[in-house]
Amino acid sequence: MLTPSDATDRLHAEIASREPSMRRDLERYVNIPTGFNHAPGLDELRGLVTERCRALGAGVESVPGDPRPAWVSPPSPGVGGENADAAGAAPPSVICRGPNASVGPSILIASHLDTVFDPAGPFTRFTLSPDGHKGFGPGVVDMKGGIVIALHALEVLAACGFRVNWTYFFNSDEETGTYHSAKALLQEAPRHAVGLATEPALPGGGLAVERKGSGQFLIEAFGRSAHAGRDFEKGASAVYALARAVTAAEGLTDLPRGVTVNIGPLKGGEATNIVPDYAAAWGNVRFPTPADSGRFEAGFSRLNTGADADAPRVRARFTLNRPAKPLTPGTQRLAEFAAETATLLGQSMTFASTGGVCDGNLMQAAGLPTIDSLGVCGGGLHTHDEWIEMRSLTERCELFARLLLRLTEAWKA
Ligand SMILES: [Zn+2]
Repeated sequence: MLTPSDATDRLHAEIASREPSMRRDLERYVNIPTGFNHAPGLDELRGLVTERCRALGAGVESVPGDPRPAWVSPPSPGVGGENADAAGAAPPSVICRGPNASVGPSILIASHLDTVFDPAGPFTRFTLSPDGHKGFGPGVVDMKGGIVIALHALEVLAACGFRVNWTYFFNSDEETGTYHSAKALLQEAPRHAVGLATEPALPGGGLAVERKGSGQFLIEAFGRSAHAGRDFEKGASAVYALARAVTAAEGLTDLPRGVTVNIGPLKGGEATNIVPDYAAAWGNVRFPTPADSGRFEAGFSRLNTGADADAPRVRARFTLNRPAKPLTPGTQRLAEFAAETATLLGQSMTFASTGGVCDGNLMQAAGLPTIDSLGVCGGGLHTHDEWIEMRSLTERCELFARLLLRLTEAWKA
């Protein structure tokens, strides 16, 4: 009979022995280009992670991607998160259902395969710092490192004979707003007792326990063009109309409460001597509570002039893309449980709030207590200096494995 400390010693030793293979997996996964909805790379990585889940006895379900509203994408996107374009086909999600469905609470793990990096850009390969402490590469911390530690944690638990009731959800469009996979995730989440996502840890191993929500909008103005010199009064400027609407949208800001409205990119007009007949502004809002999204819904719909109004007309569209993730009692309890687990390992885990959004927002909105920054440690997310602290591979793998084990033994819904 194994004592609890024998069992956790074995887990520790098994994870330490896997460090070289974790490093190899990380390098391999980072070198597969999965940004910009690059289908060959996404398919390859999806195939690799699915195969590993299958080898652990999981049944695999592929869910076709839903379409993304075309208006959400600005005409010339830059690199940088939710606004980056997702051209091409809607990628599928895969749901890998582990073999121990009758053992303990059901745990939903979620990771995204995509990154924000252009496969044809300058940042495509994994490299190690001269002292070996840091690894650099596209998605190395957000979140290929997180995928590596979660897969190894599941494999180590199985190798040590521990049974955990897990399901692993992989999507391919988190960085572009999860439009293709939100429905699949929202349908899956309520079947489980707790949710864990492998987003990068906050600095110092911190856990994001509270996240804002996020929405996208497009305001368009339709005017009437005319020669700016000869017939100015016959024209109706779409740019003036857009400017007034944009100022009204700014009025939805409430900085003391953390409600923000970001405008851009925008476009309008073609030449200085033509009254512009079309102008458009895209933007993003962030907000702390679920009620705020209703206020935005109403605020943007008030900007609409109606389809048969005189020029210039205004049409405003708003879509909620990540519900707010306030700190709920269930998530608070789960976060404290994770922090106790970290303490058992001699690690520290602080709690923080962030304006950044992720799929944890969706999981919690579906009723699942969720913590979502259980991935690896590092920095420079979404930049060409993105890096991972290499030793966090084993440390965070052990934290993840012990958390799965302790949840299985002791979590009560
Ligand atoms: Zn991420």
